[in-house]
Amino acid sequence: MKRILVTGGAGFIGSHLCERLLNEGNEVICLDNYFTGSKANVVHLLNNPFFELIRHDVTHPYFIEVDEIYNLACPASPVHYQHNSIKTIKTSVMGAINMLGLAKRIKAKILQTSTSEVYGDPEVHPQTESYWGNVNPIGIRSCYDEGKRCAESLFFSYHYQNDVAIKVIRIFNTYGPRMNPNDGRVVSNFIVQALKGENITIFGDGQQTRSFQYVDDLIEGMIRMMNSRSDFLGPVNIGNPNEFTMLELAEQVIDLTNSKSKLTYLPLPSDDPTQRQPDISLAQKELNNWEPKVQLREGLTKTIEYFDNLLKMQVS
Ligand code: NAD
Ligand code: UDP
Repeated sequence: MKRILVTGGAGFIGSHLCERLLNEGNEVICLDNYFTGSKANVVHLLNNPFFELIRHDVTHPYFIEVDEIYNLACPASPVHYQHNSIKTIKTSVMGAINMLGLAKRIKAKILQTSTSEVYGDPEVHPQTESYWGNVNPIGIRSCYDEGKRCAESLFFSYHYQNDVAIKVIRIFNTYGPRMNPNDGRVVSNFIVQALKGENITIFGDGQQTRSFQYVDDLIEGMIRMMNSRSDFLGPVNIGNPNEFTMLELAEQVIDLTNSKSKLTYLPLPSDDPTQRQPDISLAQKELNNWEPKVQLREGLTKTIEYFDNLLKMQVS
């Protein structure tokens, strides 16, 4: 049994990670300030004596003795991370410094959840880890993109300077149950709109692409990365290479929900990446042939079921 710290553990991805780590017989401590996450995401774990939930903001230091740290704390949807951009930068940068400082002191292994956003609006397609990215350093997405890029730099600096055992993954768009219905990301937006019979909001002409990964596949990749050979630090892409336009996604959601919703077109936010698709050959090679198993229709069906139940509970 390992003792594992998960920052941002009450969020969408964090809650699935805590659940999986507990199921594998570990002791899990979840730190969260509930900015975008909620106790509701982990309420089903509270009766487990090996689970602890602690309200804490990672921009402040925290001390605890653990074997491993998964650093997830950071708002992930553009609406949320742009809401208080300075706080987003502080969370990525000071959060990384605090957690790396802790890892150094207690000699814990630490994994950073970086993002495909470090590639910005990519000029290389699909994106490999060796691509340095095309990020606007002063645009509306920069608080997130540059915060995450700086965090990667900090991880490698702590490794080279202080010998901290680090792992860095770059996550591509991930969806699934427990996404926040109001967080503005495209999958949750389209599903909630379709279930409510509201217009589906397509930003721009809907021809921009994303590659959507179901959360279970990400959790598997993340845990394999934490347990990979000690000299493999990453960064490694973790995503599903199947690429869709936003119009194709809307069509699938309308079809699966049997919705009468119509499409409505809104302006494209600035710096919105035109296309995104992971090259996952490195993950396949280093993470024991890891690859995504859940394809979009199957994952959407499970996610739609989750939001359908959530909306019914809100009505009753
Ligand atoms: P989320 O918003 O659901 O979860 C983030 C969690 O961090 C929330 O519980 C939030 O309350 C917590 N948090 C935010 N600021 C904090 C702070 N200062 N102190 C303590 N807790 C704080 O988002 P998610 O989709 O679960 O993302 C988790 C991580 O994965 C993030 O770091 C995100 O950047 C990364 N990521 C996610 C995706 C994706 O598609 N979901 C893609 C790339 C990277
Ligand atoms: N998007 C959209 N309608 C929405 C929300 C998002 O068309 O209601 C588009 C958005 O412009 C982007 C894509 O969907 O091109 C993915 O957006 P999301 O915020 O989910 O993730 P990110 O842009 O960070 O990849």
